Amino acid sequence: MEAEKMDENEWSYHGEGNKSLVVAHSQRCVVLRFLKFLPNRNLMAEEVYQHLHNILDFGKHIMKQFLGENYVHHGDVVKLPLDFLKRLCLKVQTERPESRCEKEMDVSGYAMCLPNLTRLQTFPFVEHRPIFCIEIKPKCGFIPSSAHITKEIKKKVCRFCMYQHLKVAKGKWKRISKYCPLDLFSGHKQRMHFALMSLLQESQNNLKIFKNGELIYGCRDDQEYLSDLNELARQLKPFFFPANGLVGGPQCTKNVLKELIHVLTTTLLSTSADTGRAANMKPIPVSQGRNYCEASHFCTEYLRSDKHKMESTGLPKGCILYKTLQAQMLDMLDIEGLHPLYKRVEKYLEECPEERSSLLLDGPYDETFFERLTDLSLEDDGSVEYAVTKIQQYRVAMTAKDCSVMIALSPTGQEECFDSRPLIKTSRSSFTYSVSILDLDLKPYENIPHQYSRDSKIVKHYLKSIQTRE
Ligand code: ATP
Ligand code: ZN
Ligand code: MG
Ligand code: MG
Repeated sequence: MEAEKMDENEWSYHGEGNKSLVVAHSQRCVVLRFLKFLPNRNLMAEEVYQHLHNILDFGKHIMKQFLGENYVHHGDVVKLPLDFLKRLCLKVQTERPESRCEKEMDVSGYAMCLPNLTRLQTFPFVEHRPIFCIEIKPKCGFIPSSAHITKEIKKKVCRFCMYQHLKVAKGKWKRISKYCPLDLFSGHKQRMHFALMSLLQESQNNLKIFKNGELIYGCRDDQEYLSDLNELARQLKPFFFPANGLVGGPQCTKNVLKELIHVLTTTLLSTSADTGRAANMKPIPVSQGRNYCEASHFCTEYLRSDKHKMESTGLPKGCILYKTLQAQMLDMLDIEGLHPLYKRVEKYLEECPEERSSLLLDGPYDETFFERLTDLSLEDDGSVEYAVTKIQQYRVAMTAKDCSVMIALSPTGQEECFDSRPLIKTSRSSFTYSVSILDLDLKPYENIPHQYSRDSKIVKHYLKSIQTRE
């Protein structure tokens, strides 16, 4: 970025996760994504640069292949002037939620510059017409069926629904959400409606809504909720019912939410022409596990009936949910099957530490790396190579289980009737839209033991809490 032009007043705090902090430009359609570190645990500038490049390569050469060219924006690594960074860091500090402040924004000089996905991606420039954007973190959309699973409950109840009990018990969230990822990923209209409504009612960190780039609904933080559905409807009403004035009330809320859920379902199921390389891979059959979760709050009678099994429509190939789910399903062994393979690699590395780089555990994320990921065979020949392939597939799957889908929607004017961009019609309005995926950082190899112990904690707690309920 041009050093002399960097003015911290043009940037403002946008959001953050566990690994990175994001600031948005007020005029241009871009954001800067910085790494975050615990105090005194920061990397050298050179290491930050390398790490950001790895993230970029992984998005560009690996996740793009799985998820499709149109949905993934890998961005660029940019160098920034240190004095600008110091001032920016001070400026955003006051806006950060307290619960996120145990880590500090990295000011070593590098960041990722990305398109601002709360804006419409079909336009390169900031637009002055109104726009809103929904961010959904859908989490894992399938129930595992691996033979390595030791707890039967994992084959009946999905990870998200089990984890809810632990999160509420620990005080992370106040209430159990009725959202179940299997409903969202079902491709079945009513189940998807139910899932989206549940996300709106109890958004936790799985749903956020931005209007003209600013957060208007969802969780900024574990403590700070914007969760008034009437207020949300009031804000979104002009998009859906432009001619209807400002009358509010419960009927208005109901109507707006109905239209909102309709556009979301339509965009999530819309297919893109671009298919990505992984389209040529043999799809991982969804039918291996069951296609509903026993803990789902969606009309349980209906789900359990045979009628549902016949009716289950599935997702159209090429839609964002289908692609995300396929990438998630690269986790074929479940953490219980994967953990022994991790130990095999660890043992090998203890004996020959110099081999670490030749195993490509840390990249480079290129063609060769991608090719290895396409080997779906489950025949374990006892080799380190087999273990590494499964570990890398697992890490890609974990990334896809943790990413966010961004859906940006802007009402179209009369003048655009002949436009070739895809349109979604609602009863009183129509929208152009763009769908993208963000947060595609490869999950660390070192996390595997932690995942393993967390898995057993979640299951134990769930079993205990349903037992005491009965
Ligand atoms: P996690 O803890 O989920 O791993 P993270 O630390 O990797 O999160 P991101 O999810 O990449 O961080 O970014 C944090 C938030 O910033 C996102 O949830 C999203 O709201 C916002 N954000 C990130 N990238 C963009 C972008 N390109 N455009 C608009 N908003 C963005
Ligand atoms: Zn579930
Ligand atoms: Mg992340
Ligand atoms: Mg995130």
